[in-house]
Amino acid sequence: MRLFPTKEQETKLAKHFGCIRFVYNHFLDNRVKFYLSAKEKQLAKKSLNYYDDAAELTKLKKQPETEWLSEVNSQSLQHALKHLDGAFNRFYRKQAKFPRFKKKNLKNSFRIPQFVRLENNKIYFPKFKEGIKMDNHRPVEGEVEFATITMNAAGQYHACITVEKFIEKLEPASKVVGIDLGVKELAVCSDGTRFPNIKPFRSLEQRIRVRQKELARSKKDSKGRQKSRLKLARLYNKISNVRNDHLHKVSHQIVSENQTIILEDLNVKGMMANRKLSKSIWDVSLSELVRQISYKAEWYGRKVLFIDRWFPSSKTCHHCGYINESLTLKDREWTCPRCERKLDRDYNASQNILVQGLNMKNMSVGTTESAECLGVSSVAKAIDNRLARKPNRL
Ligand SMILES: [Zn+2]
Repeated sequence: MRLFPTKEQETKLAKHFGCIRFVYNHFLDNRVKFYLSAKEKQLAKKSLNYYDDAAELTKLKKQPETEWLSEVNSQSLQHALKHLDGAFNRFYRKQAKFPRFKKKNLKNSFRIPQFVRLENNKIYFPKFKEGIKMDNHRPVEGEVEFATITMNAAGQYHACITVEKFIEKLEPASKVVGIDLGVKELAVCSDGTRFPNIKPFRSLEQRIRVRQKELARSKKDSKGRQKSRLKLARLYNKISNVRNDHLHKVSHQIVSENQTIILEDLNVKGMMANRKLSKSIWDVSLSELVRQISYKAEWYGRKVLFIDRWFPSSKTCHHCGYINESLTLKDREWTCPRCERKLDRDYNASQNILVQGLNMKNMSVGTTESAECLGVSSVAKAIDNRLARKPNRL
């Protein structure tokens, strides 16, 4: 949700961003120093933990040179310590790299762990009792658990609000669907439903290219450079908003109409060569769509299956199982040389994905029939062959 703080509130928000960054960097530095000296002196205690940091933070707030820390929400500062502690724990468990210092202007954010209230298009939280105006076009239902305030490169403020919400599972649906995700069309379903990609990007892409050139030509550290960077950031923002709205609609429809959704592993699609800019946008779109389908499926009690990434879904004729090795990316339609049927590339792929998924889970009830009429025998043969090679995969 977009926030519209007053000038005064902007200053206060800047203080929050700054203090969070200071606390994070200060305690990161502290931990590194402590570790080095403990190692040198061969102390038993080698590292600091959250409680050490929290005690130190209380001291800092009382010292004259850092007492400005008490001007910001204390729970947000504590959360920064927890965040740092988590980063270290992930590093100790070898799940992440060594925590890095937070740079200014890179990402400005802070968490409000408690006491967030939304009312009359305003967000209220500690140190902002007067409330910050917000654009609340999607009503928030449920109890607010916590919120994160961010400022992006375009200088816009947003609140990401996490609510505790009870989601009612949907009535079970009977349909199983295979979906081919793509660049030409976003999603082509085995039941014939097709979801187009949205088009406003062509014009936006052109504007982005103009801005990128402008940015590249501008002098370093000049006012003009800052301006072009801002404009570019706004354009990217616009794209992601339009795109997300569309993806939400598509994922919602897919999840509400189908009980089991079979998708292809996206890594294969990622290898598709495309123009640079569009590629990055579409890569994000496809993985975002999969992410939305997956979490919504979980919400509503649906099932998502992913088929093996090396399955040649586009190249295999779903009628007879012939594999067309000469099929190129440009071929939107092809005629199977063996059974002479005309095939729509994406629809054919969705049929194969469906059959592959059905076989994978061996879902016998009610689906064998549909699998058979889709020409499953030939595909099943291909699967059997692969099973022989990799018995533990399916
Ligand atoms: Zn065929």
